[in-house]
Amino acid sequence: MKSKSKDLKKNVPDKNASLERVINRNEKIKETVKQAANELTSVNEVLKQGKEVKIPVQIIKEAITQNKEVEYKVAKAANDLHQVNTELAKEVAERLVIETELSDMKTDLADVRDDLSKSQAKEQESREAALHDALTGLPNRVLFEERLDHGLIQAKRHGWKLAVLFMDIDNFKNINDSYGHDLGDKVLLTVADRLQSATRREDTVSRWGGDEFVCLLLEVKHEADVTRLAELIVKRIAEALKFKETVLSIRVSIGIAIYPADGEKADILLKNADTAMYKAKGTERRVVLFRDSVLD
Ligand code: GH3
Ligand code: MG
Repeated sequence: MKSKSKDLKKNVPDKNASLERVINRNEKIKETVKQAANELTSVNEVLKQGKEVKIPVQIIKEAITQNKEVEYKVAKAANDLHQVNTELAKEVAERLVIETELSDMKTDLADVRDDLSKSQAKEQESREAALHDALTGLPNRVLFEERLDHGLIQAKRHGWKLAVLFMDIDNFKNINDSYGHDLGDKVLLTVADRLQSATRREDTVSRWGGDEFVCLLLEVKHEADVTRLAELIVKRIAEALKFKETVLSIRVSIGIAIYPADGEKADILLKNADTAMYKAKGTERRVVLFRDSVLD
């Protein structure tokens, strides 16, 4: 396709120049024919006069010779015209070829554009898939860690607090064992929904894996707001879950780590929130702040 476009670029100015040449020739022939017509008129005039008045033989001879010359000029002009017409027909045919090539190139270009936007859409799809959990559609660990890193940079710059909540469903294995893996999946989807509806749009709820979820809260003003939200989440998730005839009641345990008091780095905050979550498993409240878990 590249070479085709190069050829076209080269060809189009050539074609324009040769078409101009043919048109010029055509104009010249027209001029010659016009001149010949004028000459013929004056020769005819002389010959006509020769019939009426006595004109010297020499002049009549000259007029006849001139008449022959004009006839020759006209014949030559007719021949030239034929040549010019042939060349014009050739030019038109070549132009048609160029036009067809141009329109083919336009089609090729449209195809290339189409392929490009398809592959960009595919790339976007696979990026989405690489950053989200297949079952719930929530951000996965990779995306969560990206957002946590970004959140920490912002928190440091503005002197904000930030919270990481680590959650795990209690006795989730029992649900799978008693009701089957499919219903277990539905429970995970409901938990995902309830977590999202309990948090703000700018917070990130992520599925960490299995029955574990992690939540990132940005711009935390008061630590008490975080523990209050965690307790609300425990309550919301404990609300009865109905699947046709089956009614379930599930609980989650939540460990909290707050930047900067419970850690200044992403991995430390996650580790400490996980530690606090294990402590929370044994409590009635099901919510433990890392610092409090260390005090026990
Ligand atoms: P604990 O109270 O200590 O958390 O006990 P648990 O039974 O919840 O145990 P744990 O958290 O270790 O087990 C999580 C289970 O989640 C194990 C695995 O079979 C199940 N699981 C992991 N991924 C999926 C999934 O995508 N769908 C379903 N239905 N189950 C899953
Ligand atoms: Mg569990």
